[in-house]
Amino acid sequence: MPLVTPNLLKIALAATLCIGSGAAVQAQNAAPQVQKVAAATPAPKLLVVIAVDQLSADLYAEYRSRFGGGLARLGSGVVFPSGYQAHGATETCPGHSTILTGGHPSRTGIVANNYFNLDAPRDDKRVYCAEDETVPGTSSRSGQYAPSVTKLLVPTLGDLMKARDPRAQVVSVAGKDRSAIMMGGHKADEVMWLAPGGLATYRGAALSPVAQQASTAIAGAIATARGPLTLPAECERQDIAVALDGGKGNVGTGRMARDAGDFRRFLASPEADGAVLATAAALRQARKMGEGDTTDLLIVGLAATDYVGHGTGTEGSEMCLQMAGVDREVGDFLARLDATGIDYAVVLTADHGGHDLPERNRQNAWPDAQRVDRALDPEALGKAVAEKLGLPQPLMLGEGGDYYLSKSLTAAQRKAALGELLPRLRAHPQVEGVVTKEELAAHPVSKRPADVWTLMDKLRASFHPERSGDFIIALKPRVTPIAEPGVGYVATHGSVWDYDRRVPILFWRKGMTGFEQPNAVMTVDIMPTLASLIGLPVDTATIDGRCLDLIPGPETSCR
Ligand SMILES: [Zn+2]
Repeated sequence: MPLVTPNLLKIALAATLCIGSGAAVQAQNAAPQVQKVAAATPAPKLLVVIAVDQLSADLYAEYRSRFGGGLARLGSGVVFPSGYQAHGATETCPGHSTILTGGHPSRTGIVANNYFNLDAPRDDKRVYCAEDETVPGTSSRSGQYAPSVTKLLVPTLGDLMKARDPRAQVVSVAGKDRSAIMMGGHKADEVMWLAPGGLATYRGAALSPVAQQASTAIAGAIATARGPLTLPAECERQDIAVALDGGKGNVGTGRMARDAGDFRRFLASPEADGAVLATAAALRQARKMGEGDTTDLLIVGLAATDYVGHGTGTEGSEMCLQMAGVDREVGDFLARLDATGIDYAVVLTADHGGHDLPERNRQNAWPDAQRVDRALDPEALGKAVAEKLGLPQPLMLGEGGDYYLSKSLTAAQRKAALGELLPRLRAHPQVEGVVTKEELAAHPVSKRPADVWTLMDKLRASFHPERSGDFIIALKPRVTPIAEPGVGYVATHGSVWDYDRRVPILFWRKGMTGFEQPNAVMTVDIMPTLASLIGLPVDTATIDGRCLDLIPGPETSCR
């Protein structure tokens, strides 16, 4: 097996944090008799939640037979290959908000990565999902906001575990702040994410000594140039260059080389996932998580797959290198957990699926794959309509399908604007549908299986009356909402279609009898499933998910 990424960072972290792999070998040799998991089996001492950003069900299916590391192990457990991030706004922040709350974004309040608050007490009316816009001097732009969990309107599993037993430890480490924050919740002991300087946490909070050590090791790795990775033989058939629209270069044959200090390329590689996993392992060890009387929760958000998907699409050499890398890194992490002898349970899922770039989709499956028409941009469209009707400008703001009309409009002006905008949008050849907030507010959250949801059902599940736009548009299938490809951003997710909604949901625990169940379950089912495993009561009226039975046959793990 060729070395697909340098292990320099892992070695540095292991040396710094005393997390060797020798113990893992020892544990394998010992091979103790494993007790079969049954309904009466005591709760695991450690819950491990791994979210792989943009790991679609399609990507999992494509690579499943090639996995030999951590993903292969988790695939031997209880496999729901057709899990659903059921809602329409299939973005990172909403998706992560469903995983450990049991709620759709309509309940968590995380309707998009960015939404607009036209009453925000600052010039920038755009609000990032994981910021506090009331902090003076902030904006929603990267590096200028104050990271915060205040937008999340419901408790997470970790919050409920701490409410039951304050000794329960909750630690959340991720490649992105919104991933760490939305899964960590309101009361986590430690929340951190990758940053150009290593690791970062909330303003005014300090990294713990072990997190600081990890941060220093990661900063050292970022500062070190990386040569091209060796392409494994099984990736060779994906090593085909595809030309980007507008002469913007090629993707598909990358090897993940980067210059010293290139944080963007560091993020888009398995090295970043390895850094997050090594940090999580080190924090677990330092805190003795899983070694006390109560169950602890270790949360890991792996972002590299998403950066690779956005930067180079889902079907090139780059994604093949990334899949091999995440499989190996998760495997190494699990081996470290094995070495502790702790009874732990793992769930792995994703915040949303993904879709390849239109240039590559056109070559084989879908000649009609398109990039979005710039005329649909809320500001451009608002300008055109305001000029036609003589309305005040700016008429409209928006992003990602949510359109917000100016609050300065009179009722008559608003009516006139909608009367012009909605038919115009509905007639556009790239638009599947346009729905107003009044229509969505009147539509109940669907209780039907997520694979048969209507467009209204999907949009309703990521609608919040105080945060969503005045109307929401959905693009037709295979219309990529990036008008022009740019560096690091050629393909995306976010649509209402199943390629962006379907994700794997994998459960694994030592002694578990694995099985596969292809029915459509949902990521909102993960929280009540884990809660049941540890005997934590959850008021079903406060969530949208339900417990998934992880024991084959008539016995059930749902208490
Ligand atoms: Zn994401």
